Amino acid sequence: MVSSRDSDRPCTALPPSVFARRRRRVAERLGDAVMVLPGAPVRYRSRDTEYPHRPDSELYYVTGLREPGAVALLRGGADGGELTLFVAPTDAKAELWTGPRPGPDGVRERLGATAAFAISELGERLPALLDAAPQVYFRLGEHPAVEPHVIAALRTARGRGARKGTGPFAVVDPGRVLDELRLRKEPEELERIRRAAAITETGFRALAERIAPGVGEWELQAVLEGTFRALGGDGPAFETIVASGPNACVLHYVDLERRLADGELVLVDAGAACGLLAADVTRTFPVSGRLEGPARALYEVVEAARADACVAVKPGATVADVHAAAVGALTRGLLDLGLIPGPLDEALREERHKPFFPHQTSHWLGLDVHDVGDYAHDGRSVVLEPDMVLTVEPGLYLGAAAVAALPPDAQPERWAGIGIRLEDDVLVTSTGAERLTGGLPTEPDAVAALVGG
Ligand code: ZN
Repeated sequence: MVSSRDSDRPCTALPPSVFARRRRRVAERLGDAVMVLPGAPVRYRSRDTEYPHRPDSELYYVTGLREPGAVALLRGGADGGELTLFVAPTDAKAELWTGPRPGPDGVRERLGATAAFAISELGERLPALLDAAPQVYFRLGEHPAVEPHVIAALRTARGRGARKGTGPFAVVDPGRVLDELRLRKEPEELERIRRAAAITETGFRALAERIAPGVGEWELQAVLEGTFRALGGDGPAFETIVASGPNACVLHYVDLERRLADGELVLVDAGAACGLLAADVTRTFPVSGRLEGPARALYEVVEAARADACVAVKPGATVADVHAAAVGALTRGLLDLGLIPGPLDEALREERHKPFFPHQTSHWLGLDVHDVGDYAHDGRSVVLEPDMVLTVEPGLYLGAAAVAALPPDAQPERWAGIGIRLEDDVLVTSTGAERLTGGLPTEPDAVAALVGG
């Protein structure tokens, strides 16, 4: 739960020391190479009306910069490397509209950068900065405003390098260095993910109290997201899903314009962000406050899969083990209910769960809700290690395609339109795992008891 003191203050950004520590780690891995990280530009939702700015995750990870349109350049080295920044210059007229800008001098001081320049100087200064680097870490195809400068600088550097036998010979994706670092959460990140999870839990409880027949999906969204902000969270970490009845079978349903009806379920998949770090939770509630009939039978299968998959999270296990635990429980449950043919080993081998559970059980969670990091290396599933955070989110969706796959004697109409997902955020610890969202019940009767206060 969130204490009243927590709600008195907004989620704070990470302290500058965290970014400095990260840059030292990046510098060690870069060697003589240089990494170029462009920030997110200002994006417009219509005409001159802007979307709220969300910093680029990679630029933010190594600098903490929130200014739109910045570019960071990291040179590697055992001495901690060098940081060169390009940012928007101070501009009294523009600052009247969008607030104070630190400008090059301000960010140099704040971040302890080696040098900082106005963004307009990027093209002119880049060739000299890339000149001696054997590799340049830059993501091609994603930064239309910066990429031409990088390409031009590479061309210049190659021309000069031919004389000296030095200069860039490879362009590498920054994720090769950053993803591995981001996969293991630091204490300051875990603190914020925990608070995001606590805020999300309180939001779900407030939402559940409002569930009743006739209530609009949008009203539940308002309660949930209002709670996220009221408790000091950044707001939702991603588009909130409130999917009643058959809408739950649309995996990324975001229309939110239907009213809840008696006897149905409502699936809620949402998460607060706190200092840009995300929580991601799903619970499925009975609108009437009672979970019974086919919905309860399916719910119990999903809950068993969630529990088994959470138990499978531990150091040394793989992401594939977690998925296999969920799939095993779902397959057994579907078999017991007569919704797929057996025997069990054949049902598992032929992946008969797939029409009902078409997605993976887990994704990484962090600065991005679907956080960076590979799930397999050379075709082998990634081994879990302490400080990794992943979701566990099995589900069963009896949408049109799944119902069509049911055997005729399963009475397809009884199951049609039911969609259930349960999702926890789980931290891998040195001895096992910790459910960061374990304060919010998943057991059928405990979930039903939250409905309508
Ligand atoms: Zn998720």
